[in-house]
Amino acid sequence: MRASAAARGASGRNDKKRMPRIRQQNVLAAQWTPNGGALGAPDLTIADNQVFGANVFSPAIQRQRLPKDVFRRLQQTLARGEALDTSLADAVALAMKEWALERGATHYTHWFQPLTGSTAEKHDSFYAPTGEGTALAEFSGKELIQGEPDASSFPTGGIRATFEARGYTAWDPTSPAFILENPNGALLCIPTAFASWTGEALDHKIPLLRSMDALSKSAIRALRLFGDAGAQRVFTTVGPEQEYFLIDEQYFFERPDLITTGRTLFGAKPPKGHELDDHYFGSIPERILACMLETERELAKLGVPVKTRHNEVAPNQYEIAPVFENSNVGSDHQQLTMQLMQNVARRYRLACLLHEKPFAGVNGSGKHNNWSMGTDTGENLLDPGETPHENLQFLFFCAAVIQAVNKHQALLRASIASAGQDHRLGANEAPPAIISIFLGAELERVFGAIERGEVGESTPGSFLGLGTPVLPPLPLHGGDRNRTSPFAFTGNKFEFRALGSSQSLSLPNTVLNTIVAEAIDELADQLEGEVKAGKDLEAALPPILKRSYAANKQIIFGGDNYSEDWHAEAERRGLLNLRATPDALPHLVAEDTVALFSSYGVLSERELESRYEVFLEQYVTRLNIEAETAASIARTMLLPAAARHVAVLRQAELPELVAESEALLAEFTAAIKKLENANLSENQPHDDLLEHAEYMRDTVIPAMSATRTAADKLEKVVADDLWPLPKYSEILFIK
Ligand code: ADP
Ligand code: MG
Repeated sequence: MRASAAARGASGRNDKKRMPRIRQQNVLAAQWTPNGGALGAPDLTIADNQVFGANVFSPAIQRQRLPKDVFRRLQQTLARGEALDTSLADAVALAMKEWALERGATHYTHWFQPLTGSTAEKHDSFYAPTGEGTALAEFSGKELIQGEPDASSFPTGGIRATFEARGYTAWDPTSPAFILENPNGALLCIPTAFASWTGEALDHKIPLLRSMDALSKSAIRALRLFGDAGAQRVFTTVGPEQEYFLIDEQYFFERPDLITTGRTLFGAKPPKGHELDDHYFGSIPERILACMLETERELAKLGVPVKTRHNEVAPNQYEIAPVFENSNVGSDHQQLTMQLMQNVARRYRLACLLHEKPFAGVNGSGKHNNWSMGTDTGENLLDPGETPHENLQFLFFCAAVIQAVNKHQALLRASIASAGQDHRLGANEAPPAIISIFLGAELERVFGAIERGEVGESTPGSFLGLGTPVLPPLPLHGGDRNRTSPFAFTGNKFEFRALGSSQSLSLPNTVLNTIVAEAIDELADQLEGEVKAGKDLEAALPPILKRSYAANKQIIFGGDNYSEDWHAEAERRGLLNLRATPDALPHLVAEDTVALFSSYGVLSERELESRYEVFLEQYVTRLNIEAETAASIARTMLLPAAARHVAVLRQAELPELVAESEALLAEFTAAIKKLENANLSENQPHDDLLEHAEYMRDTVIPAMSATRTAADKLEKVVADDLWPLPKYSEILFIK
């Protein structure tokens, strides 16, 4: 395997006589040894070959390694979601260090999630020279608990303007530490939060943790009304389905647009797309499967419970999904998954594309955020359950989600907004930018009956299912499906399908947790009032659900979300259609958002403003990079190719074709000029970030599109050996 791959690298791959010099060098640079570390199958019936969690400082490892009372106190603290007793830290640090050294770690890092959306790490050696020619491993509670990376280079938005830039990282003991392996060493990663010295969250983890606390408090309060005295904490859960592309890395390195922007800025529609439906759930190509298997094995070592894999709709598009975990750990694991997918792909000479829309005209990639709430006693609050009492409780929590999503549709939309997402949401691709909920026919019927008063005080027996049931049975797992809905009930969870493939899960889940916490409290207030006034729960709840559903049912939609009809219907209903990022982001700092987040202590006004600013800045910057890359490729690669082609035609004395190509060239040249003009810094508004973002949306994006349209026409006529970019028909179909 190694030999043949190496041989391929030496002969086939380097034979690029026609390729421009720079591209040749790119391709050379891309030629890694395909070490395929996982090749060769271990015997999985031997216990030692099971790698799951092997590199995780898990509760099981902690039990083995920590003094009994330390372990017990740590677990108690974590289970209750309480602040950590710092006296525990030294003992934990010692055990963690010994474990990590045994596994070959030489360095440790506080692993955190700044507002860039990716993860950050700064490695520190365990060893410090003692001056006597020896070295000691140095890592105590102090190093475990807190680090001080220089925060000044991370995006902090408004917070940087008013406060000093210093920040610190703080150990998150609720997400287990893990070891990242490298062929030449290993690194202990300690999941941490990242905050300013003034206590503001500079990352995505802190607000997520705060939102989980908020939801737990509200849900526990509601559960008490339903007579549940046992549950102490409610965890939100997340199981993300991640879509991605795998392409041969040669094409990746031959395309400056993929390298710098993650998507192709040019490329004519290939003769074959996914029309034959021959890719979805198709048999997975051997090289791809090999890559997936190794990725999954690496993820298993890190305790990421990968469950499913399959081909997606578009050619060379795939999906990976884990078993769900609590939102914090699930979201950390998602970041790791994205990172490892990209790393392992290179071992197979593949490039993993996580961009939301790597190829125009081809399905983009999203992330389905399966979300639910579960008690520490093991009950899923969005599971209809079997007894009438469980059903009442289920309907209560379900109504809260409906109410929350309707009230805060704009905020949910804002939480998933990015330059990459604008090619999916709001463009002609699912899911649309309009947020709506799919309940499924059965559950919609149940809420319909409640709304019509067919159940209520007068018929408590029937509501409880004791007499003749008026209610149809509640949907059990796997109710009917609607693939086009951005927010669908899928049997025992809601699936927020509008996330972008490259996105961190943290913000959308922070929003989801917080808005649902608020709705639970609003409904619980009413229920508590009625119960205190002497009504029993069964009689008190239906009118509350009825009011809530009637007020919020405009958000329910079971039809085709892609259709034009729905856009018109949604407008009639008064639902928001926030097409582009600059339309959505202002809702992050809207009055009701600020009020909601501050009353639940999840994000302060300043923290929200800083996020708003950071996200707008990212939008502008990303588009700027795209537009400059597009202009540069157009002028320095495509235009010369087209001009050479015209010369060839002229030499061949083909006046008709010369005229045709010259006309296209003229269109292309004009478009390039316009794009270059739009890109000039002096032509862009710099006083106001939102205005700048709107300029990118209204002037730069159309100029890029026009350039692309002209280039794609040229791609179809210019001699193939002159065209400098690999084409969609190659990139998407060679595996
Ligand atoms: P489907 O999308 O067809 O319902 P699955 O049942 O396999 O497929 O679920 C897809 C994803 O939903 C998986 O990642 C799974 O872990 C996750 N999931 C299942 N139950 C829950 C839950 N209670 N909370 C969060 N995610 C869940
Ligand atoms: Mg699903």
